[in-house]
Amino acid sequence: MAADEAGAGGDVEELRALVGQLRTHLDARGRSGLMGVVVARKTERAGAGATAKAAVVAPVAVAASLDDEHVNVHVHEPVNVHAPAVGKPRDGKGGLQVLRDELGDCQRCKLAPSRKNLVYGVGNPDADLVFVGEAPGADEDAQGEPFVGKAGQLLTKMIEAMGYTRGDVYICNVLKCRPPGNRNPEPDEVASCEPFLKRQLAAIRPRMIVALGKFAAQCLLRDDTPITRLRGGFRSYEGIPLMPTLHPAYLLRDPTKKKLAWEDLKAVNAALARVGVHPPKTPAA
Ligand code: URA
Repeated sequence: MAADEAGAGGDVEELRALVGQLRTHLDARGRSGLMGVVVARKTERAGAGATAKAAVVAPVAVAASLDDEHVNVHVHEPVNVHAPAVGKPRDGKGGLQVLRDELGDCQRCKLAPSRKNLVYGVGNPDADLVFVGEAPGADEDAQGEPFVGKAGQLLTKMIEAMGYTRGDVYICNVLKCRPPGNRNPEPDEVASCEPFLKRQLAAIRPRMIVALGKFAAQCLLRDDTPITRLRGGFRSYEGIPLMPTLHPAYLLRDPTKKKLAWEDLKAVNAALARVGVHPPKTPAA
């Protein structure tokens, strides 16, 4: 056998071994019954009537896509869209209030002196759906409410297109105070503020989180994959399904990307519908 043929044979063997390992891993995760592991079986790929089972037990989470620059293979994190929020009844309002009181006139990081208002969060404390952004901008800082500037107005339209109002969902940010000049959040600021976001999410116990933009997605997922590759695939944040999508401010800069964000939000509605969570109004098509 020629040397390069032997090399090719070795590559095939290695690939086979990797596929085998991946299959074993996914099977084990699927069998655990905790998470949906989406793997199209041969019969399902052939459309042999296995769709209903797939929808109930294990929605498919492995997808491949090709674009101009990359071959993106998204092996989506298994997500727990089927598990109901268990345990004691939700008390989002009480939990959020305790946390707000604890934040008080927060001086935990270097953003405190320059802020006008701490921007805690707004909306339904028992929301099924939570949107997490990066940090307040000038308008939010002035009004003490997240996403009220131009990007916020676009977010409001996106939420309404999904069939919700701002009051139905909960909206917050990783940082509660505006970084001067809207610069990127710095690690020490995130370290001070992120625990409060985590506790907000724990208080609300939503069925789904939408991470708006690179910063929120990377922070919640501890994954520095670019948002253009993260978006569109469900991930899991502490057992809660999380959809990373494009930030509305980015969509204002490049409106051609709005359709991608809309696809993500439609996927969110579809996943919520599978667990019986429906928006109060009919979503846009
Ligand atoms: N951008 C964000 O990420 N959050 C806001 O609240 C406003 C703009």
